[in-house]
Amino acid sequence: MSAITGAKRIVVKVGTSTLTHPSGHINIRLMEKLVKVLADIKNTDRELVLVSSGAIGVGMGKLGLRERPQTIPGKQAAAAVGQCELMYLYDKYFSEYNHTVGQVLLTRYSLDNAESSENVRNTFESLFGMGAIPVVNENDTVATDEIRVGDNDTLSAIVAKIIGADALVILSDIDGLYTADPAKDAAAVLVPEVREIDDALMATASGAGSSRGTGGMLTKLSAGRIATGAGADMYIVNGKNPDVLYDLLEGKAVGTHFIGRETL
Ligand code: GLU
Repeated sequence: MSAITGAKRIVVKVGTSTLTHPSGHINIRLMEKLVKVLADIKNTDRELVLVSSGAIGVGMGKLGLRERPQTIPGKQAAAAVGQCELMYLYDKYFSEYNHTVGQVLLTRYSLDNAESSENVRNTFESLFGMGAIPVVNENDTVATDEIRVGDNDTLSAIVAKIIGADALVILSDIDGLYTADPAKDAAAVLVPEVREIDDALMATASGAGSSRGTGGMLTKLSAGRIATGAGADMYIVNGKNPDVLYDLLEGKAVGTHFIGRETL
């Protein structure tokens, strides 16, 4: 049975392409469903962190921008608008199930530096102690390219490491890791389990994500290296139906399981 059935502290990451329609506007049905499932999982006495992308994508939708802004101030302005909207919706939906969220916006500096990452860890511990659900994103309005984490796959893995999570679940727009790109190769099959993310595996992954998000399989594999290296199991599953989280927690074989070092 998969290790996640006993996991107590879980980080769930949802990406822009899962959370938004191609128009850039929020996929309301999906977001509501996701929050409902997460609220229910939280009710089973687990500690949850939600790492949510979508600030720039949602900001684009709200501002009526057709293209992702190219300039840094443009992206930062879109993120400033979108982050508000995201938190407004998470707060509203989680409140319906009597759960409280806290917004945690992180910068690379706050994670790289020993003292500030200890502060970050303490903040998470306090939020868990208060029964709140931290909703995390990069602080896109202040981080510039040179000092950004840059993608939320990596950010979620760093968070999982700092808080000593048992599991990291990446909700993606694909069922998991495939032997080749399934959009291009009909012979591609899903890989159910990965014991080691070696350079050969990294070389098979393509970096491209969607036009609205920044992820791709490459960032997920590097996230996997961080998370599994820290002893957390990582799972990539398809987020188009958030019920997949129930399947995962019941030990059903869904997606790709990257086995954490300590459980090997
Ligand atoms: N922090 C970015 C946002 O919320 C997303 C980064 C990513 O797509 O991984 O828009």
